[in-house]
Amino acid sequence: MIPFNKPYLTGKEAHYLYQAVYSGHISGNGIYTKKCQAFFEERWGFKKTLLTTSCTDALEMCAMLLNIEPGDEVIVPSYTFVSTALAFVRQGAKIVFADSRADHPGMDEDKIEQLITPKTKAIVPVHYAGVACDMGKIMAIANKHHIFVVEDAAQAVDSYYRSPTPTLPQGEGVKKPLGSIGHLGCFSFHETKNIQCGEGGLLAINDDRFVKRAEILWEKGTNRAEFFRGEINKYGWVDTGSSFLPSELNTSFLYAQLEHLEEIQNRRKAIWDTYHNAFATLQAKGMVVLPNVPEYATVNGHMYYLICRSLDVRTALIQYLKQHNIHAVFHYQSLHKSEFYKNKYTGESLVQADKYTQQLVRLPFHLDLTNDDLQFIVNTIKQFFDEE
Ligand SMILES: *Cc1c(COP(=O)(O)O)cnc(C)c1O
Repeated sequence: MIPFNKPYLTGKEAHYLYQAVYSGHISGNGIYTKKCQAFFEERWGFKKTLLTTSCTDALEMCAMLLNIEPGDEVIVPSYTFVSTALAFVRQGAKIVFADSRADHPGMDEDKIEQLITPKTKAIVPVHYAGVACDMGKIMAIANKHHIFVVEDAAQAVDSYYRSPTPTLPQGEGVKKPLGSIGHLGCFSFHETKNIQCGEGGLLAINDDRFVKRAEILWEKGTNRAEFFRGEINKYGWVDTGSSFLPSELNTSFLYAQLEHLEEIQNRRKAIWDTYHNAFATLQAKGMVVLPNVPEYATVNGHMYYLICRSLDVRTALIQYLKQHNIHAVFHYQSLHKSEFYKNKYTGESLVQADKYTQQLVRLPFHLDLTNDDLQFIVNTIKQFFDEE
């Protein structure tokens, strides 16, 4: 069976893990935590980053930093992973679900403004498949209404948004890394993501107002980070928080992956291109719709998906691939229709989110896929549509 996902190992993970184990410091905020954070700050210019135990945790930190309280509203796409909404629900927020775009699973930027009320505290765009939302539009709306933007960049490491520049043609603006544009940005290093350490995440703090408090929330509500920098001579309990920081066991593993970023990303983008070129004919025949990458966005090779004509076609395709030993999957039940939220949801029907819920299929995507594997997957899918 060609698996859907297989966590990639660079070969250095066990070495750095060994180093961490025998360094005598394996709790959080040690050498490898600092190395990883420095990598993000140097490679992509993030002002301040904190590693977390997951992207879910990073999102929870955001909900705390924004002082989300019962009665506050947070705008979240319905077609996303649970955590995007859950982190804010835990603080008592009412989630206002936004529909997806007709041409992309990301939230429809043109439908955000009509969801804003005096209670709206934040918008949480998700860069689905690592493809940027139109951050120019979203930031303009947020600034106009004085609300915060938290980017769920869980899938979007090493992907960019090109901001329009009046002096340059469309699509040639300045490239800004995703996760660095909103007030806060969150990344995931779960084993299904491009860069992984089993479970892990990162909070990017792009607005200086949040830096000091973020460090406190991160270290169980204490000012321990300041203490370790020698800025104060005793630390204690000063705020709310939790144990959001990962141990050095996770961060040493993660560092090995970051060191091989270029190689991982080059191969992932090549896999994406192979799929995309191979399926162009299927799209031309109207059999499937391929991922759309707007001119302001880039591809980071996080995932490849096809949008089938109907739920029935998708079910049959997944079944057919399984018979040929290929594991393809679908995901995201619209959150407004989930067991947990359906009785609380009062908004209108979200047609696009439901479309992706029923028609989107994800193809195997990992670095163990050989060119032969890719050719086999492509041929099998083409065969399915020929026979259909
Ligand atoms: C993976 C993912 C998350 C959750 O990340 P964890 O690190 O597993 O907590 C959140 N949002 C999106 C869009 C994701 O893809």
